[in-house]
Amino acid sequence: MTTVDARDDLSSSGRSHSVTDILTERAAGFATARRSGGGQPQARPARPTTGVAVLACMDARLDVHALLGLGEGDAHVLRNAGGVVTDDMIRSLAVSQHELGTTEIILLHHTQCGMISITDDGFRDKLLERTGARPDWPVHAFDDLEESVRRSIARLRSNPFLAATTSVRGFIYDVATGELHEVTT
Ligand SMILES: [Zn+2]
Repeated sequence: MTTVDARDDLSSSGRSHSVTDILTERAAGFATARRSGGGQPQARPARPTTGVAVLACMDARLDVHALLGLGEGDAHVLRNAGGVVTDDMIRSLAVSQHELGTTEIILLHHTQCGMISITDDGFRDKLLERTGARPDWPVHAFDDLEESVRRSIARLRSNPFLAATTSVRGFIYDVATGELHEVTT
């Protein structure tokens, strides 16, 4: 059986197992641990207990649950490259609010974001070069972190489908120091 604890297993090349195999073995252990945690396994309610939806960049260094002290069942965490307010994020937030009762939105961007170092045209050109096709969708690259947060907050506040919103606040997480700074609007 593959050892799943050693970090080397996740980065070594030439393995017969994919990393997915290793991670799904961990998932089997997760279910076992839950069963042994006592009594009948029971799902938490689907409604987030905090009433909060977090929209964050997908950056692997941004551990949203650890950062905000959230546990299972506490909040919706929506992520994409850049933590950008796209139509699909509006769709998810609308479901979050109107079907599952959230009212507050926390927007999380971070320092050293990959979306700052690319441009829409540059990334589209790269895809054309690598895949033979140029996407027609917007990449949503940005060059000013704070400005991007402010623009995103404004989009969320003015969106007609997010009428249940009682609070939208935006923050920048510093991946070096672990500190969170609020962006004033
Ligand atoms: Zn990012």
